[in-house]
Amino acid sequence: MSRKVLVFAEEKNGKLRNVSFEVLAAAKKIVDGGEIASVLFGTDADEYVQALAEHGADKVFVVQDSLLTQYVTDVYKEAFLEVVNQFQPDVILMGHTSIVRDMAPKIAAALQVGLITDTIAIEMIDEKIVFTRPIYAGKAFVKKVSNDSLVFATIRPNNIAMEDADSSRSGLKIPLSFTPSNNALRVKVRDVLRKASKGIDLSEAKIVVSGGRGMKSKEGFEKLYELADHLGAAVGASRGACDAEYADYSLQVGQTGKVVTPDLYIALGISGAIQHVAGMSNSKVIVAVNKDPEAPIFQIADYGIVGDLFDVLPILVDELKVLKN
Ligand code: FAD
Repeated sequence: MSRKVLVFAEEKNGKLRNVSFEVLAAAKKIVDGGEIASVLFGTDADEYVQALAEHGADKVFVVQDSLLTQYVTDVYKEAFLEVVNQFQPDVILMGHTSIVRDMAPKIAAALQVGLITDTIAIEMIDEKIVFTRPIYAGKAFVKKVSNDSLVFATIRPNNIAMEDADSSRSGLKIPLSFTPSNNALRVKVRDVLRKASKGIDLSEAKIVVSGGRGMKSKEGFEKLYELADHLGAAVGASRGACDAEYADYSLQVGQTGKVVTPDLYIALGISGAIQHVAGMSNSKVIVAVNKDPEAPIFQIADYGIVGDLFDVLPILVDELKVLKN
């Protein structure tokens, strides 16, 4: 049964986020000869349209209104609903990003359909689209099917592999204009103050090096950055480290922080509380360094080093230097 699948594409810091391509890969699994359309807000850059087409979009709706260069929930919601009205999709897929976590429930409510959030796999079983999502802080998984005529789901970044670009493809760019309601314009963003972040985006990183309360101090925590630099990794933190002001809360991994799914997660001085594990247990390989052999983090680690991290960290850095030369 062919389907029309609508995919939200997100731009950040002047480039399309990888999750936009991962969601297109998910769309290709279920489209079954139908049509895939992407939605791009606040820019009509041809290079983005081309990149989305090369990853599977048959058409790209671009809404370039200046109101959309900055995320505002109700303005984005109304613009997206306009695209839904034009395209009449059977399925809507979005990356499970901060913006989408805010916007998707409002869109689902407006469309009066259910929303399956934070899914990590998508498959077709007996003509039904079946989504897998973690429950109980990642301790179990549930398979979900929507019975609505319009299926709406969000997909966790870094879970469905993006496919190689097919440069022979080109997509149709469809400019759309829209007029936000007065209600949507109640909120005006005057300025966005971004925290200066060192290096790679945590939620999309292939390698994450995280520190916990065991890092002992802000200065101790800074030592993680050298290891991260050698590995091309993003730096994360436990809430213990954030509460102790060793690291900024924007680095927090876990139930109330960011959910990461890197190929390699290295946890240093982190005990492995369930709330931390909820944010990283789907990492492909987990390495833990802890001086307590009974620390719960070792229960989920693929490799464990029992020792003082301030001894282990310089050895790891030295070994990486040797490997590089
Ligand atoms: P600790 O539990 O204090 O562990 C420090 C570890 O470092 C210990 O295992 C110790 O053996 C080891 N260590 C100490 N010194 C060294 C050394 N020199 N060398 C090697 N190892 C050393 N936590 C999160 O991380 N993310 C969340 O999103 C989150 N959300 C929460 C939500 C709720 C509602 C609640 C109640 C809690 C939440 N927490 C979260 C907090 C969580 O329960 C833990 O308190 C927190 O994860 C502990 O951080 P930690 O492992 O760094 O600290």
